[in-house]
Amino acid sequence: MDFENARKVLEKVYKKAPDVCVVAATKTVPASIMNQIESELNIKYVGENRVQELLSKYEEASECKTWHFIGQLQTNKVKYIINKVELIQSCDRLSLANEIERQASKINKVQSVLVEVNMAGEESKGGESAQNAIALIEEIAKLPHVKVEGLMSVLPNLEDKVLLDRYYDELYQLFEEVKKANIKNTDIHTLSAGMSGDWERAVDHGANMIRLGSILFGKRVY
Ligand SMILES: *Cc1c(COP(=O)(O)O)cnc(C)c1O
Repeated sequence: MDFENARKVLEKVYKKAPDVCVVAATKTVPASIMNQIESELNIKYVGENRVQELLSKYEEASECKTWHFIGQLQTNKVKYIINKVELIQSCDRLSLANEIERQASKINKVQSVLVEVNMAGEESKGGESAQNAIALIEEIAKLPHVKVEGLMSVLPNLEDKVLLDRYYDELYQLFEEVKKANIKNTDIHTLSAGMSGDWERAVDHGANMIRLGSILFGKRVY
């Protein structure tokens, strides 16, 4: 793969947002290419959204040191990734947090998570409603082996940019509220939002972590 285009994209990203944390969303990207991400692009974080795919590439993509899980996570699959991921970005329900607690405690780990919020109330996506997010975080915060470090959201790809801006505003407000709530056993510092199509909008609305896939690695076949 030619990383030239990806480098140009990243130049633009860091020019606009020097401190943003870029996570390479690597679904469908072969392990051999993933192994070059840090050396070629200086990106330290890779995010997978399917457990099966993460497991199938994990050994071979050994140059990738810091893995995130960014997709919908079935409770019964937590055990497969608990010792592999630094951050689970898609913690969206208490039952999942409880299982993360159970598996993390077994290996004496405190698992960092982001709580995923579903700003547009889309049925097809995971995520707690914005309305219930703080209550969920308060419950998760009681779990000693789970640490909430912020919020993640996958916003819809809307034609209506006014509405999209409203969702982004609401997301940022929620992030600020969660920080101010100062919930014990949390350390709220990350707002993960924005993908290839909307990273600029996300950064403009206070996201400090963006998840980039196709804009770096080319269009996916599916
Ligand atoms: C695939 C994926 C991304 C990246 O999407 P692109 O549009 O290819 O940048 C980001 N976040 C999640 C949760 C994803 O599954």
